[in-house]
Amino acid sequence: MSETIKTDVLIIGAGPCGLFAVFELGLLDIKAHLIDILDKVGGQCAELYPEKPIYDIPGVPMVTGQGLTDQLMEQIKPFHPNFHLGEMVEKVEKIGDPGFRITTDAGKVFECKVVVIAAGGGSFQPKRPPVPGIEAYEGTSVFYAVRKMEQFRDKNLIIVGGGDSALDWTLNLHPIAKRITLVHRRDDFRAAPHSVEQMRALVASGKMDLRIGQVTALEGADGVLTAATLKGNDNAVETIACDMMLPFFGLTMKLGPVGDWGIALENNLIPVETSAFETSVPGIFAIGDINTYPGKIKLILCGFHEGALMAQKAHRYVYPEKRLVFQYTTSSSSLQKKLGVN
Ligand code: FAD
Repeated sequence: MSETIKTDVLIIGAGPCGLFAVFELGLLDIKAHLIDILDKVGGQCAELYPEKPIYDIPGVPMVTGQGLTDQLMEQIKPFHPNFHLGEMVEKVEKIGDPGFRITTDAGKVFECKVVVIAAGGGSFQPKRPPVPGIEAYEGTSVFYAVRKMEQFRDKNLIIVGGGDSALDWTLNLHPIAKRITLVHRRDDFRAAPHSVEQMRALVASGKMDLRIGQVTALEGADGVLTAATLKGNDNAVETIACDMMLPFFGLTMKLGPVGDWGIALENNLIPVETSAFETSVPGIFAIGDINTYPGKIKLILCGFHEGALMAQKAHRYVYPEKRLVFQYTTSSSSLQKKLGVN
C-alpha cells in the first residue's frame, strides 16, 4: 500500500462537473485531487460522444464533447489538479469531523477534509444486445460508442437501436460510411422526431436501409465481422454483409461502490440539499448527474452551477477560521493572480 496522499478535497469522477469543480474550488484556494475509473478525463463527453456537438453550454454556441473537455482542462490549468486515472474509488471512510479516508482499487490512500462525488451514472457500462458470441467482436468490429468517426469510413455498418444515440450516429456516420443499415425492433422510434424524419428521408431516397427486427447471429472470424443475420418481425430471416456493428441499447447505471459509502441513496442517485449540494453526510457533496433533488435536470450547465455552490460550503470545512468574501473574476486582482492573468 502506497503512502497516504493528503489534500483539501478529493473529487470522485473527472467528468465535466468534476473538472469544473476544480476551478470553483481553486478560486477559493482549495486544492483538489481527482480519481476516475476511465483512463482519460471528460466522463461521458469524452467517452460516449467526443465528436458530437453540444449546443447548450452558456456562452459557447457549439463545442464537441472532447472540445469541452479540452477547454475545461485549459481553464483549470492554473490550479494544477492531480489526476489519478484508471483507478476506482472503492472505500470512503469518515476519520474526522470533517475528515475522510479514500481508498482506490489500486491501493492508493487519500486523506481529505471534503469529498466531492461527481461520479455521473457511476461506472457506466453499455447494455450488450442478446446476440450469441458478440463478446468475440467487441472492440474490433462491435462498438458501443464512437470515439473516432474515421474508423467507420467506407465501412458497411449495422446500427442497432431506436433512441437518440442510434439515430444521431446513423445521421452523423451516413456521409462517411459505405452503407448503413439501421435495425430496430419496432417501427417506432424514441429518438427526437426531426432525427427520425431525416433517417426516413434517407431510407426513402435509397441512401440507407432500415430493417424492423433483431440481429440474431454474427458471422466472422478472429474478431472480424463479415455478416449479421436479422430476423424480421414477420419472421423473415436475412443475412446482411457488414464490417462493423454499433448497438445503442443504452447504458446500465452501475452505481458501483458508491452504494457502500454510508450515504443515503434514492433510486441509485444521491439526494442532496440545494444550497450547497451536500449529501446526508456533512463534508461529502454530490454534484452532476449522480445527484437528485426536486427539479434536477441532468445537464452539464446544472452540474457547473452545483460545483460553484458546493465550493462555497467546502471553504467552511477547509478554512473554518477564514471568512469568505465573494469576488468576481472580472474585477478581483487576487482571483486574477490565482488564474495567472494578472
Ligand atoms: P460523467 O460525465 O458521467 O462523469 C463521471 C465520471 O465519474 C466518469 O468518468 C466515471 O468513470 C467516474 N466514476 C464513477 N464512479 C467512479 C468511482 N467509484 N471511482 C472513480 N471514478 C468514478 N448534457 C448537456 O448538458 N448537453 C448536451 O448536449 C448533452 N448531450 C449528451 C449526449 C449524449 C450522447 C450523452 C450520453 C449525454 C449528453 N449530455 C448532455 C449529458 C452530459 O454528458 C452529462 O450530464 C454529464 O456528462 C454529467 O457530467 P458528470 O461530471 O456529472 O458525470
